[in-house]
Amino acid sequence: MPNPFLQELCCLLGQPVAGNPTQFMMEKLFARHALDWRYLSFEVPSEALGDAVRGIRALGFRGGNVTKPHTVAVIEYLDRLSTAAEMMGAVNCLVREDELLVGENTDGKGFLQSLAGVCDPAGKYIAVLGAGGAARAIAIELALAGAARILIVNRTPERGKALAELIALHTDAASEFLVWPNRYEIPADIEVLVQATSIGLNDPEARVPVSFRRAGSELVVADVVFNPADTAFLEKARQRGCRVLDGLGMIVNQAAIAFKLWTGIDPDTTVMREAVEEFLSL
Ligand code: NDP
Repeated sequence: MPNPFLQELCCLLGQPVAGNPTQFMMEKLFARHALDWRYLSFEVPSEALGDAVRGIRALGFRGGNVTKPHTVAVIEYLDRLSTAAEMMGAVNCLVREDELLVGENTDGKGFLQSLAGVCDPAGKYIAVLGAGGAARAIAIELALAGAARILIVNRTPERGKALAELIALHTDAASEFLVWPNRYEIPADIEVLVQATSIGLNDPEARVPVSFRRAGSELVVADVVFNPADTAFLEKARQRGCRVLDGLGMIVNQAAIAFKLWTGIDPDTTVMREAVEEFLSL
């Protein structure tokens, strides 16, 4: 019998968390599945991350999500990682197992489920812009799904090189790294391009420094940014005639996997999609 004064708690840790639809979506989902659970969003600066995770433990939270910029840094505060999180070196989901706090990663699988509606990555040559938590999860899952070749393009060489090495270590895909030039011309033979940096998040004016001048007409272009849902980057790709995929499907799918891990229930994804669209006034 649930105690009416003791709800189960989940939370989001990140900075910024303003504009992130996860709390809104999860609260609608708890109501839809008649769960007396609560979800809170916490703005956590990097220097407070350790204290925030200790707080989650002390207060008995059932689980949570981790977002930019903490998906890699949070690992040192956890007891164990899932196989996927271990491989990616990034955590976007926390799950309490008895006294242990376990790091999971649902981002890559969420992205793949979303991409499946547009194309199959198997055998493809794919470029991933970025090498942070989201890029790591996506690049590894694409490689595990049979992508032939993955090119990582990142501003900071160390992070980009490390991700290319991670792909080579754990998967059969060929991997390369390129330091992001001032303006990156998408090569004609790239078949899928994933914008996995935080450029454009909460900033419709931000421009991703790429040129589609040489891009093939069959190119599939995905953006992980979900707010705004239709980014300037996707608009540019659309004008070039590319097929585009926004970040909304990914946010719904990765959250659906997290919800199942916390509650054991297969969520109603229609409610989730409607909640995200309502939150973003789409
Ligand atoms: P991180 O902070 O871990 O990584 C950020 C990445 O963006 C790094 O590769 C960084 O490059 C790059 N970057 C940031 N600013 C610039 C810039 N001005 N020029 C070039 N590169 C830049 O963030 P995450 O990986 O966790 O998140 C990235 C994005 O993905 C965010 O917008 C996040 O909201 C979104 N996301 C969306 C999800 C969805 O479900 N749709 C799920 C998860 C994340 P460098 O290494 O050089 O610093």
